[in-house]
Amino acid sequence: MQSFLRKLNSIFASSTHQPAADHSPDLFITDELFNNYSFVIGGLFTYFNDLPHEEKLRFVKRVHQFKSSKKFHFIGLENNEDTAILISSSAIQVTFGLKNYLLSHFKDIYILADAYRMDEDEELYIGHVAPDGIYLSWKHFLYGYSHKNDNINVAVHEMAHALLYNNFFAQYGIDAHFRLNYERFSNSTGPILAELITQRRSYLRSYAFSNLHEFWAVSVEAFFENPRGLKENMPDLYEALCRVLNQDPLTYNKLLKSEP
Ligand SMILES: [Zn+2]
Repeated sequence: MQSFLRKLNSIFASSTHQPAADHSPDLFITDELFNNYSFVIGGLFTYFNDLPHEEKLRFVKRVHQFKSSKKFHFIGLENNEDTAILISSSAIQVTFGLKNYLLSHFKDIYILADAYRMDEDEELYIGHVAPDGIYLSWKHFLYGYSHKNDNINVAVHEMAHALLYNNFFAQYGIDAHFRLNYERFSNSTGPILAELITQRRSYLRSYAFSNLHEFWAVSVEAFFENPRGLKENMPDLYEALCRVLNQDPLTYNKLLKSEP
């Protein structure tokens, strides 16, 4: 597995990424495609099922666009269209309120059957984001969406990392709303983070306190997994996340402003 991953990395590290317009013209999708996607997404995403029809349409169009713009690599499991639709849906859930939702820097998504090791590292990974792609364990992806309210969802976690990477370290697909508001977010959550580290007691799992990037990813996980729980326990953090992602998962159509 390790050497295979390395080989994959070296192949894709050399490919040059073409800039892509992030919010391409409104995409037309057929009823058949909409129904097919809705069936697949609705089987796992309560977030999607709760959306009103108009927003479901927006969601499916975005998933279709996202999926078409990526290359999915299946490692240890068979190529599967539905799997690609579901993984794309995680990205769209996180970026649903943003104008630039394609995470354009990332052209490759690697789906591994189970937890995996990287290089010489002894630790097992269930997902990570590297400059060459987004990596996810399919087994743990499914766990995240079938165990609700436990604040653990690896796909949401990695998409949150990918969104941050795309907006601060990549050269295109920048979302101006996100960038500006993330800066505000990190300024306002700095003190929350400092206080929590001192208290060593928090609603968020302890991994959040490794560094600011993990605090971000773990917070976004909690935001989508159990929005009510986060809002009750950490209302300031919840509000800050609503602003930066331009959505509130506890509202009817989720979006705060249709075009930030
Ligand atoms: Zn992380």
